[in-house]
Amino acid sequence: MTTTVSAYAATSATSPLTKTTVERRAVGPHDVAFDIKFAGICHSDIHTVKAEWGTPNYPVVPGHEIAGVVTEVGSEVTKYKVGDHVGVGCFIDSCRECDNCKAGQEQYCTGEYGMHGTYNSTERDGSPTYGGYSTAIVVDENYVLRIPDSIPLDKAAPLLCAGITLFSPLKHWNAGPGKQVAVIGLGGLGHMGVKLAHALGAHVTVLSQSLKKMEDGLRLGADEYYATSDPDTFTKLAGKFDLILNTVSANLSMGAYLGLLKTDGTLVELGIPEHPLEVPTFALAGGRRSISGSMIGGIPETQEMLDFCAEHDVTPEIEVIEASYVNEAYDRVLSSDVRYRFVIDASTI
Ligand code: NAP
Ligand code: ZN
Ligand code: ZN
Repeated sequence: MTTTVSAYAATSATSPLTKTTVERRAVGPHDVAFDIKFAGICHSDIHTVKAEWGTPNYPVVPGHEIAGVVTEVGSEVTKYKVGDHVGVGCFIDSCRECDNCKAGQEQYCTGEYGMHGTYNSTERDGSPTYGGYSTAIVVDENYVLRIPDSIPLDKAAPLLCAGITLFSPLKHWNAGPGKQVAVIGLGGLGHMGVKLAHALGAHVTVLSQSLKKMEDGLRLGADEYYATSDPDTFTKLAGKFDLILNTVSANLSMGAYLGLLKTDGTLVELGIPEHPLEVPTFALAGGRRSISGSMIGGIPETQEMLDFCAEHDVTPEIEVIEASYVNEAYDRVLSSDVRYRFVIDASTI
């Protein structure tokens, strides 16, 4: 039997999110049902509902940073039991057969079925997926993460997207002792980048629009902090970094930032702005520099990240809000006034 749950949804690109209800499927043999306790607000939620990435399937119930407590498991479930603390990130299914799925990189699924998003996508039966701005969800156990006991659920939620999105490229490009890492943008993603890169032992520099958040940045683990509004920043830091992680949700002037890379350095594009980026090729060719991208992380690496965060006491800085505040929270994210992730208390939905 399906269950009706409360949710917050956007019904068009221009209307505010409002309270509604959605149906959750009956718990199948491989499913885990859980009560959502907290859901983070990611800038991707805003890009999606505002149709900046194409017109989504309204109504959209956003939310792919979901943490909660298991209420029911299917007959074949082996990994979870009632009462467990669990999470779900950006996807709830994938083909399970392609090389990437087999390697635990489900986010890059190349199979015909593809990676299926937690919202604005479809379930196996073709029905729409609805995300975490709701009170409960049912997900196949293979796409559910275990939240370590030492991480409170409100702080665990943002790890499911912001955390893994920074952890994966930091690991892939070997951030660690002796490596110079820069993080552009001190928002939801960026502040996790600072904490994780610091925990991995890298030398961390924040490149923010201004020095307004400098004290915070240094407290979170940055070794250096610069304002990109100051042109001197780009001369002072020329050729300094092995790795630059760009978390900015808008288009930046790539040439200026490429100049900050060492020879063979890499700038990883994590922000996904509405419009394509322009890349000046001299800045790329001179210095054999690379621009790459990276998208979230697979299920095994997301679990590794959660366990790493528990072990190293790395958790996000959050502002827990009532669901009715979601539209104001969106406005504050858009004006870079987030310190540093809004998390919806699902009991207020
Ligand atoms: P966020 O909290 O809004 O952080 C973005 C930060 O970028 C802001 O705090 C601000 O930092 C800086 N910024 C914003 N507008 C800017 C502008 N016009 N010029 C320069 N800097 C600007 O957003 P988020 O949730 O971290 O997400 C960031 C981006 O990553 C979004 O595009 C999102 O869709 C994308 N994303 C990608 C993945 C992935 O898998 N690749 C996963 C999640 C999110 P300062 O105030 O410090 O300058
Ligand atoms: Zn996200
Ligand atoms: Zn696949």
